[in-house]
Amino acid sequence: MLKVLKFGGTSVGTIESLRNVKAIVEGLPDPAIIVVSALGGLTDKLIATARSASEGKTDYVEEMVGIRKRHHDIISELIPEERKEHVFSEVDALLDSLEERYRGLSLIRILPERTLDEIVSFGERMSSVIVSGMLSEATHHNSLDFVKTEKWFSRNIADRKLTDELIRKQFCLPLNKHAVAGGFISTDRNTGEITNLGRGGSDYTAALIAAALNADLLEIWTDVDGFLTADPRIIKGASIIPSMSFVESMELCSFGAKVIYPPTIYPVFHKNIPIKILNTFNPTAPGTMISDAVPSKGKARGVSSLSNTSVITMSGSLTSNVAEINSRAYNAMARNGISVFLVAQPSIESSFSIAMPQADGEKALEQLRLEFSPELQSGELTDLAKTDNLSVIAVVGEGIKQSKGLGQNIVKELMSAGVSVKAISEGASDTTVAVVVDNGDVREGLNIVHELCFEKMLSEK
Ligand code: ADP
Ligand code: ASP
Ligand code: MG
Repeated sequence: MLKVLKFGGTSVGTIESLRNVKAIVEGLPDPAIIVVSALGGLTDKLIATARSASEGKTDYVEEMVGIRKRHHDIISELIPEERKEHVFSEVDALLDSLEERYRGLSLIRILPERTLDEIVSFGERMSSVIVSGMLSEATHHNSLDFVKTEKWFSRNIADRKLTDELIRKQFCLPLNKHAVAGGFISTDRNTGEITNLGRGGSDYTAALIAAALNADLLEIWTDVDGFLTADPRIIKGASIIPSMSFVESMELCSFGAKVIYPPTIYPVFHKNIPIKILNTFNPTAPGTMISDAVPSKGKARGVSSLSNTSVITMSGSLTSNVAEINSRAYNAMARNGISVFLVAQPSIESSFSIAMPQADGEKALEQLRLEFSPELQSGELTDLAKTDNLSVIAVVGEGIKQSKGLGQNIVKELMSAGVSVKAISEGASDTTVAVVVDNGDVREGLNIVHELCFEKMLSEK
């Protein structure tokens, strides 16, 4: 059985948590592929220090003392004597080049994107060397050699085909030892420059490896007992979801459930490789199984929320050709690399809205004005208006759209608590019912919706 295990930042953040990782991996019956994040909190620190150095400040010197000590302490404590010198020398070489980059930034006083990408890569480059040195039998694999990206608008996206080929060359099956690789980091397929898969992207690295090698299971080891019915930082009463479908997890994650990086699910879903969410700090907890088996239809599986959203509403005498307007709006967004995540019907008829990350809002408005300039001129469209600082609250469950009155119930409960609902979704998905509220109402709104879908339902049974 081939498994890919991904350990997140908190799992590899301290000497104690790394001992758990070691016990989990060394307890496996077969050699596995282990993907690791940078030590918890390090990526944020690397970015903040780069910003400060590029303003000409020299606090990077002090930060480097701390970063060095953190890595050294872990090596001293966890790496067996016979490998200590080797691991120290590899990590020290990386620490030295990191400091060199900071020194350079403090002199040139600008922060080019590719330098920042190079700087953040040191986190996973170091942690992967440490974890492979810590395990009794493991080989280290450099993800920069086999995870390839290409530019898509201003983003780096994985080149799936090339990456698949390179992964298959990199890992010879069957494995005879555990294989350890850093998550998140990659290189541009054309320039060879260091890039990454986006914040939280180690999950995605693990999924790319699992899919390319047709693994039997992808395990995401993190710091909670599984996928919860809501973000536990917002909802105290959230409970573990024992199992869910790929589509449900995809919807919950793209609407803000931070437990898995959204692009992760697609490659394994496509290959029907189940994902398990497990807790490094409570390894015997059953966790959550994500697969194509869907035990209950038409019920809410979880809720999530996405803040800092813009909604653009188009109004006019649209009643007859909403579908066409809809598809033209979608295409205009897609051509410009803007991902639209919601189509909503606001309270006024003959208008419809699309939602996107606020960062893309201005560009989206500009493009829609261009696309619909004939209709705006003819008066068929009377208005194109953008509202910022909104949040989407999504209720997800297979077949939930058929559950009668859920949308109205949600709106009623929210309204009676004084939360104003700006729009309710009419999106393509059968799995999600979503409402749009003000950013300031999102916590309260999520509590109300969670209570309605889980706590009230339970007490009624
Ligand atoms: P890692 O460093 O292991 O990748 P992350 O911080 O990226 O961990 O993701 C795990 C965190 O996701 C949890 O600690 C939890 O606070 C948060 N989270 C948000 N929504 C959910 C949810 N629905 N279920 C579980 N965890 C969630
Ligand atoms: N270290 C990276 C981040 O903090 C990637 C990851 O943890 O998945 O975003
Ligand atoms: Mg994560």
